[in-house]
Amino acid sequence: MLLPRLSQSAEAARAAALQAEFNEKKWVWVPDDKEGYLAGWVNKEEGDFGEIIMAAGGDFRRVPLYALSKMNPPKFDRVEDIADLTFLNEASVVHNLRLRYGSGAIYTYSGLFLVAINPYQSLPLYSDAIIQQYRNKRRDENPPHIFAVAERAWVNMGEERENQSILITGESGAGKTESTKKVIQYLAAIATDVHTSPPSHSRSPTLTSSSSFVSSMPTTGLPRNSSFRRAHNASPSVSGSGLTAKGRLGLLERQILQANPILEAFGNAQTQRNNNSSRFGKFVRITFAPDGSIAGANIDWYLLEKSRVVVRSEAERSFHVFYQLMAGGGTLKESLLLGGAIEDYEYLNKSRREVDGVDDLHEWSALKSALDIVGFTPAEQFDLFRIVAAILHIGNIAITSTRADDAIMPDPSQAERVCHLLGIPVAEFTRAVLRPRVLAGREWVSQARTRQQALDELSALCKTLYEKSFGRLVDRINEALDRPSSRSTFIGVLDIAGFEIFEINTYEQLLINYTNEKLQQFFNHHMFVLEQEEYAREGIHWDYVNFGLDLQPTIDLIEATGNAIGILSCLDEECIMPKATDLTFTNKLSGLWAGATGEDDEHPGKQKYEPARFAQGFLIQHYAAKVEYRTDGWLEKNKDPLNDNVTRVLAASSERYVATLFAEYSDLPVSSGPGGPGNMFTVTKKRGLKKGAFRTVGQRHKEQLASLMSQLQATQPHFVRCIVPNGHKKPGRVDVPLVLDQLRCNGVLEGIRIARLGYPNRLPFVEFRQRYEVLTPGIIPPGYMDGREACRRMVKTLDLDDSIYKIGTSKIFFKAGVLAELEERRDLL
Ligand code: ATP
Ligand code: MG
Repeated sequence: MLLPRLSQSAEAARAAALQAEFNEKKWVWVPDDKEGYLAGWVNKEEGDFGEIIMAAGGDFRRVPLYALSKMNPPKFDRVEDIADLTFLNEASVVHNLRLRYGSGAIYTYSGLFLVAINPYQSLPLYSDAIIQQYRNKRRDENPPHIFAVAERAWVNMGEERENQSILITGESGAGKTESTKKVIQYLAAIATDVHTSPPSHSRSPTLTSSSSFVSSMPTTGLPRNSSFRRAHNASPSVSGSGLTAKGRLGLLERQILQANPILEAFGNAQTQRNNNSSRFGKFVRITFAPDGSIAGANIDWYLLEKSRVVVRSEAERSFHVFYQLMAGGGTLKESLLLGGAIEDYEYLNKSRREVDGVDDLHEWSALKSALDIVGFTPAEQFDLFRIVAAILHIGNIAITSTRADDAIMPDPSQAERVCHLLGIPVAEFTRAVLRPRVLAGREWVSQARTRQQALDELSALCKTLYEKSFGRLVDRINEALDRPSSRSTFIGVLDIAGFEIFEINTYEQLLINYTNEKLQQFFNHHMFVLEQEEYAREGIHWDYVNFGLDLQPTIDLIEATGNAIGILSCLDEECIMPKATDLTFTNKLSGLWAGATGEDDEHPGKQKYEPARFAQGFLIQHYAAKVEYRTDGWLEKNKDPLNDNVTRVLAASSERYVATLFAEYSDLPVSSGPGGPGNMFTVTKKRGLKKGAFRTVGQRHKEQLASLMSQLQATQPHFVRCIVPNGHKKPGRVDVPLVLDQLRCNGVLEGIRIARLGYPNRLPFVEFRQRYEVLTPGIIPPGYMDGREACRRMVKTLDLDDSIYKIGTSKIFFKAGVLAELEERRDLL
């Protein structure tokens, strides 16, 4: 590693001059509120303080020494792998990312991570020619790229017959979904090459390494499964074939690609942070036959933000499909009784209607053609839009109240539209909403609802309808794409929201942060195992805390069951307690977890919990930060508040699609007329629903997450971290404090912390000798000498303390900062 390309002698001379200039001063990064960090040099030190001269402007600042970070020598500028920096501090990490981003290099490695900074402009980085540039290449043979990650996953899968996963996280707008698409684009293109016989090689690399260093990544080794390799070795020249990769794709590949616009129409929306924000998480598995061709695909989804169909902030929109249908529906709209325009629908007219640069009519045709390609029949398509339209009609049902505050529907015509579309009798529907039957003591009675209760019931119905239909949509896509076979292997791509800290954090943030805590633990564990293997391979003794377990106390605090009951189970318990409220839940939690902290016999999770002081809620110490959660509304959010009077009516719908969405409720015990008994919780406890019919939101998420984690554990993982560069959705600008926050939340800094516990910089013996032998003239006798022995003599002569290096069997390992010192000595020669 760290070998300058010597052939470029002018470059080398310039680098030497820079280095000499650098050596004259003690350069540091000085924290700055606005800029994050500014460059300066230490003029003098007084006790615990340094007097710094700022590079820009030359003014003086007095800064405590602990707050200063050492700057890397200039030859480390724009390194392709942050792990190669000799000073691994936050300032240097973000400086390197910023420099690279400024020169169009949006991708950078940081050890096991690929960091991708959203360019907010279309870059010529994803053409077929670039795909070919990454084919059959190791990570260190090309500049960092999302294609390199996909390539590596693909090669590892073929060589080791092991499933792979690519975990992509980041905050909203960071580029997760775009990255996911690039991975799938790459895989579809290279898997298609299997079937095409390529013309001869005429590759012209279009991306060049911007760094003056060659990355030090361990190579993936020689192919073990050579027949697989051979099948894919041929790289067709795109210019030669005259066809783009897209043009050559088979039906299955096209269907896989077309699943995405469908998912986006129904699952994405315009938000303040992202005009195409995914309001759900997904894990897409592409399966491959043993010959490397695509055998199928499967999608799992998580946490759809269903409340968006009913409310959202004024500056945002509902899911895209609503506007697409309104824009392009034509005669379909007539069948769906949608005579009005957007402003006529209550669920659409209270917030933004259009998005800059988005043509809903055009998107509508894209959606329709995607549905056709994936194989949705016209009837199936109609069912999807039936639900969308029904939701709009439900939103327009007017509810008023009598003097006694009983809810009434003054104009039944609106409910009639809804019932027509949903295939249910109006009288039963109206009764279920306005006067459901409930259990009073031992008797079933009709209970009048207030206006607000009836409105809440209607919005709960819309959320449930939308979510169930979304689930069914994904199932249907899977039916088209999923062709499980015992001999296939998969590459799974996870596109899921990263750690969130907002002004006000609520149940949704807890679930997403819990997910990220688990994913980070998975990363830590993976890195621990790899590091351990590397040290073991090199015969280095290493006393390491298992940082793979660091995060367990926080995870237990959230998910534990049994004696030390965690937050989710505690919430579930409160949901079935009569008279429980968000406050009783919050207090109960405090009673369980806010005991004296830090004692040996205490559950370690207690150290991660604090009751909130100024609001109803609590704080959790996550790996990324301490987060305050407010618990208002959690009981409702956790249970599915839909009344079973309503679900029963829907389960009996004459429209098959609607009935199947609610099929799980169809065998509810009913003792009396339409509407049925009580609320779901009473029913659940008394008789039990069909399996899977009723679970709390928390329970369901915990189960889904457990299933995801066990799938991930059976894969070789690859990690991608997407970053939003600034808050304006604009290219070219890097807001350093914003980026630092994300690096803290997405585990990149955590990864660096872990690396620093060991010996993060490592060089093969040959490279070490080549570069630093000049510092130890005459120590190594001419002629052959064993690399290890040479290193041993060199470090002895260099007078390095044994605590800062380790000599393995093929590499020498250093603590952070040692290489900078050697570089400096070398430049002083
Ligand atoms: P969310 O969590 O809200 O779904 P996300 O991380 O999935 O956010 P994307 O939708 O992938 O974010 O990206 C947001 C926008 O940023 C894209 O619509 C696109 O305009 C731009 N963008 C992201 N990545 C790239 C890229 N590699 N090249 C060009 N533009 C990009
Ligand atoms: Mg997204």
